[in-house]
Amino acid sequence: MASSSPDPADASSVARRLGTVRARMAQACRAAGRAPDSVVLTAVTKTQPPEAIDAILAAGQRVFGENRVQEAQGRWTDHRALVPDLELRLIGPLQTNKAGDAVALFDVIETLDRLKLGDALAAAGGKAGKSVRVLVQVNTGAEPQKAGVLPEDADALIAHARSSGLMVEGLMCIPPADEAPERHFDLLGQIARRNGLKVLSMGMSGDYEAAIGLGATHVRVGSALFGERNTLQTASID
Ligand SMILES: *Cc1c(COP(=O)(O)O)cnc(C)c1O
Repeated sequence: MASSSPDPADASSVARRLGTVRARMAQACRAAGRAPDSVVLTAVTKTQPPEAIDAILAAGQRVFGENRVQEAQGRWTDHRALVPDLELRLIGPLQTNKAGDAVALFDVIETLDRLKLGDALAAAGGKAGKSVRVLVQVNTGAEPQKAGVLPEDADALIAHARSSGLMVEGLMCIPPADEAPERHFDLLGQIARRNGLKVLSMGMSGDYEAAIGLGATHVRVGSALFGERNTLQTASID
């Protein structure tokens, strides 16, 4: 595995990049008049080799995002037992038949985007005796190929999820790659405010500072921490 990686995420470069991202987050908070530690960094570890994960855990990072249930199970089950304050967040599309596995592994599922998935998560939570924390993913650009509920359908999905017992904590979005993200971050904030939601998961390596300026509470950062991924898996469905 390690020999096939063109950019080995050695421990010192991972720790250095983590420091840089944290400093830039704090600076973006100050520029926005927010407390420097008011935003959570979710380190996106999809496709990363075990050494990269060991390195960033050693550097003190504890909140992680993965976009595939099965990949995350293989990679995080052991750490889960050893690192008590670990937080795992699912940030990729979820099939209803994997709802039980997702509920078992993840602390928060950021990609609730349809009624049927809400029902499956509520049922899985009931079965596991676990309250299920979710974010609703909004397709702010209404892109046909992208997951997420349409902005005009978000209120109804939030209400449905709440009434079925899910703990709806907030919203998540992935703006269109070819547009300035600000309008999308702003729209997500509007939908959150009118639904009384506090958590906004928005901003990635290229735009997390802009997202912090527009109220992000969680930014999801991968390549700025680990270097460029091989891009094959980034947009794929679980
Ligand atoms: C991969 C991914 C990220 C991280 O992207 P980078 O540009 O590498 O920071 C964030 N959010 C989601 C949903 C992703 O799939």
